[in-house]
Amino acid sequence: MRTPFVAGNWKMNMLQSTGVELAKALAAVKPAGQVEVAVCPPFVYLASVKQAINSSHVKLGAQNVYFEAKGAFTGEISCEMLKDVGCEYVILGHSERRHILGENDKMINAKVKAAIGAGLKPILCVGELLEERDANKTESVIETQLTGGLEGLTADQLKTLVIAYEPVWAIGTGRTASPEQAQDVHQFIRNWLTGKFGNGFAQSVRIQYGGSVKGDNAEQLMSKPDVDGALVGGASLKADDFLKIIDGALAAKK
Ligand code: PEP
Repeated sequence: MRTPFVAGNWKMNMLQSTGVELAKALAAVKPAGQVEVAVCPPFVYLASVKQAINSSHVKLGAQNVYFEAKGAFTGEISCEMLKDVGCEYVILGHSERRHILGENDKMINAKVKAAIGAGLKPILCVGELLEERDANKTESVIETQLTGGLEGLTADQLKTLVIAYEPVWAIGTGRTASPEQAQDVHQFIRNWLTGKFGNGFAQSVRIQYGGSVKGDNAEQLMSKPDVDGALVGGASLKADDFLKIIDGALAAKK
């Protein structure tokens, strides 16, 4: 049984006061059942958000990390630094980092390895562009991203892996994948994991859906058998909206 996992990716939003207020509001509402909840604020607010959620059920994640351990990498942040401020999770390979900031699978793989080596739990994002879906390339794109992103890692090393399927055409567009479209790709990902790492491992990995998840579509999406939670952008910026998604996860998986 996989515990559903709902994580909020705040992206480059919020200031310290609004982020702390949001974090406190989430920390104050304990879910009425089994669901894991995390928030992923910008780097500069990780420490203050950590304070706001301390000793609550809400966990802390970062939106990115650099793969080197330390040294002359101006502007970068290491895994050890993220651990030091209380992060448990790190989002890697988000489509905005792939497509706006030029990250490739090799770099993402180095980040996955560094995160795991440091004891951070990676949320590895994969997803196709609209033109790739229209050209029937969804599965081959996902397969390439999984193969590249997880290269050289064993099932044992990947025990804490979370995968987020985020079709790029659904991110921030208000255009959500249908529950059936999401389930098809999630099942493809789980089958790929089975082929590569074995069924026991594949059944244990949580696969989140991301792309315009909202309070009114969360339950339907997560009621699909291979959709184990959500990675939420826009709707994670307001406590009420995000709490509705957490409720949706509980309703879907009860
Ligand atoms: C995201 O960026 O991870 C995301 C899913 O964004 P949104 O929910 O706004 O589509």
